[in-house]
Amino acid sequence: METRVIPVVREHLQKEDFVEAAQLLRDGELVAFPTETVYGLGGDALDPDASRRIYAAKGRPSDNPLIVHIADTDALPVLAKEIPASAWELAKRFWPGPMTMILKKREIVPDATTGGLDTVAIRMPSDPVAAMLIRESGVYIAAPSANASGRPSPTRAEHVYEDLNGRIPMILDGGPVPIGLESTIVDLTGGVPMILRPGYITIEQLREILPDVMYDPAVVGRVRNDSIVAKAPGMRYRHYAPKGELTIYEGDLAAVVARVQAEADAKLAQGYTVAVLASEETKDCYKGLTVRSVGDREEEATVAAHLFDTLREFDRMGAEYIFGECFPEEGVGQAVMNRLMKAAGYRIVQV
Ligand code: AMP
Ligand code: MG
Repeated sequence: METRVIPVVREHLQKEDFVEAAQLLRDGELVAFPTETVYGLGGDALDPDASRRIYAAKGRPSDNPLIVHIADTDALPVLAKEIPASAWELAKRFWPGPMTMILKKREIVPDATTGGLDTVAIRMPSDPVAAMLIRESGVYIAAPSANASGRPSPTRAEHVYEDLNGRIPMILDGGPVPIGLESTIVDLTGGVPMILRPGYITIEQLREILPDVMYDPAVVGRVRNDSIVAKAPGMRYRHYAPKGELTIYEGDLAAVVARVQAEADAKLAQGYTVAVLASEETKDCYKGLTVRSVGDREEEATVAAHLFDTLREFDRMGAEYIFGECFPEEGVGQAVMNRLMKAAGYRIVQV
């Protein structure tokens, strides 16, 4: 299958650009498209064959459910039942935007989309390309991140092409995405609202509406704990990982830099291809090493925006060992560290 890449300009969207993509979706085919978080691989959420195609294209385990993307809150009661008042408040406050809610699903949502669960994940994206695609196609779009399963999520159309070329008919290229990390997932189906995946919307922001919201224990640990089962199936898998072995170092920044330098030097001396994941503040401190700054420690949104792209760059350079710094877990830093720890397979060294 030939994968066509169709450029779209966020600021000047034209309905004509969406005609073919919308038709593909109505025909049960797949289209990759940008959202404000990462690129999604979309298919008709109510068509089980389209969902199966998504799993096949990504190589994704079929028990890992998909998020259903909508363009209007009217869709909420169509897809979900027993919707608590807090869900409407969350929608009013955070939609359109990078927040996903888990609710009890209605019959209309096929098991193929929810991985057999009786709940459904729903999000209204704010990206104009995503919103236009949902509206023009007239379908609810099931869309996981448009990467091959296990790889870092795509933040540019080139990343989607790298992973899925020949496996899907179309990619809408809207340029790099603004946020760069997946949505915050909140489960409203239990007694206490739970954050199943940290994202750009922080726990502090959610508390304005859900004062008792908590993290699912599986998402905050600093060590891999196999006795705690993540409630979001997707958080159970090895994920976001570069091909090389990534280890991250935590502690006083100057000590971290010295330790990373020493460990990287040792691997380099053994003849390995080595890279360092650093920050704007530290990138010039390393000597004789291949260093990439992932962003500015004072502006953690910049780290979020470049994390996945940087991990993919390490793959492109063939890095066998990657040594990385940790970042403060405040605000969006919680999501940054969640992804980084998973990418490192929980290889975290305290310095
Ligand atoms: P992705 O779209 O690739 O970011 O993956 C979607 C994430 O949402 C995965 O981590 C899923 O496990 C999670 N998810 C989707 N639907 C549900 C659900 N009904 N219950 C719990 N987690 C879900
Ligand atoms: Mg994903």
